[in-house]
Amino acid sequence: MALRKILTYPDPFLRKKCAPVEEIDGEVLKLLDDMAETMYGARGVGLAASQIGVDKRVAVIDISPRNTGADEEGEEEEEEGTEYEGPGLIELINPEIISSEGQVIAEEACLSIPGFTSDVKRKQRVVIEAYDREGRLMEIEASELLARVFQHEIDHLDGILFIDRLPRLKRELIKRKIEKELGKEEKRYAVL
Ligand code: ZN
Repeated sequence: MALRKILTYPDPFLRKKCAPVEEIDGEVLKLLDDMAETMYGARGVGLAASQIGVDKRVAVIDISPRNTGADEEGEEEEEEGTEYEGPGLIELINPEIISSEGQVIAEEACLSIPGFTSDVKRKQRVVIEAYDREGRLMEIEASELLARVFQHEIDHLDGILFIDRLPRLKRELIKRKIEKELGKEEKRYAVL
């Protein structure tokens, strides 16, 4: 496994509509392993292939508390048998939302837009279809955080970032701030 570099806004690769995986070969399996390692290394809850510069419809997700850091705060009160029993690492190949309902607004962040968060309106519940690493078609129903992360990562595979989901004025404002902050960073790299 290897850590991959996470691209940050405004890298043009983040705007790419990624190509479907046609065969789950060794390269795709290695990609999944690298993406999981990269996501855990960055303490993210999800990562899409386009974020590491790979043109494939592949994403990894893990919203369990040990990954988000939520378990660290509640450690003292933790009793035996109360550990998280959610899905852990979820690997998605060619994920697609097949149905959705409701709307909910919650705060969102992105490893490719470090240091920025915003309230984003999303579907409350989604049902997705995706292939696992063995090539089996899975159907997963999700609500709350998991539904949000599914939508965020599938958006990445279509070249869409969470800031694109904001109302126009809010979007223009945050884009200007991000470009000021992250744009500076790019220039510094170019000079050195
Ligand atoms: Zn993201």
